[in-house]
Amino acid sequence: MKIGLYAGSFDPFTYGHKEIVEKALLFCDIVLIGIGDNASKLRTYSKGEMEKAVSAEFSAEVACGRIVVKQYSGLTGDFALKENATLLIRGIRNAGDLKVEEDFTVFNRKVYGLETVFIMADKYPQLSSTLVKEVIRANCDAGDFIPPKVLEVVARNSGSNA
Ligand code: ADP
Repeated sequence: MKIGLYAGSFDPFTYGHKEIVEKALLFCDIVLIGIGDNASKLRTYSKGEMEKAVSAEFSAEVACGRIVVKQYSGLTGDFALKENATLLIRGIRNAGDLKVEEDFTVFNRKVYGLETVFIMADKYPQLSSTLVKEVIRANCDAGDFIPPKVLEVVARNSGSNA
C-alpha cells in the first residue's frame, strides 16, 4: 500500500494544491493531505477548519479511502513515519520552488529515509495561498482560485483577521 504525504500549510488550500492531489492519486494508493505549520508563515485560517473543508471537497475520495486529510504539528518526516507514508509529494511551480525543496529533500532522505516526488504545476503555476489572501483582502471574488468548501471557510472568517 503506497501512501504519499502531501504536506503544506494550505492556508488556504487552492486549486493549485488540488491539481497536485489529483496527479498524486495516479501513482499513490492513498494520498494523505497533511495540514501543518510553516515556521515562517503565520496562519490566517485554522488547521482544523482547513482540514474539514479539504475533506468535504474530496468527500467521494475520502469516503472510499483514497484520500485522508489530517492536521499535524512538528516535523513533516515524523508525521510521515507515524502515518506509514513512504513518499513525500511536493508541487513545483518554478525554479524558486525547486531551490527551496533541495535542502528538505536531502534532509528527509538522510534523516527519515523518505524520498520526495515532485509534481510540476500545470494549470495554476502562478497561484499561491499568499496571492489568494491578497485577492480576499481586496474584497474580490476568490472563487476562481479556491474550491467551494474552502470559499465557505473564507466567507465565515471575513470581517475577522482574514
Ligand atoms: P508550504 O508547505 O511552503 O507552506 P503551501 O502550503 O503553500 O507551502 O504549498 C504546499 C505545496 O504545494 C508545496 O509543495 C507548494 O510548492 C505546492 N504548491 C503551492 N501552490 C501550488 C500551485 N499553484 N500549483 C502547484 N503546486 C503548488
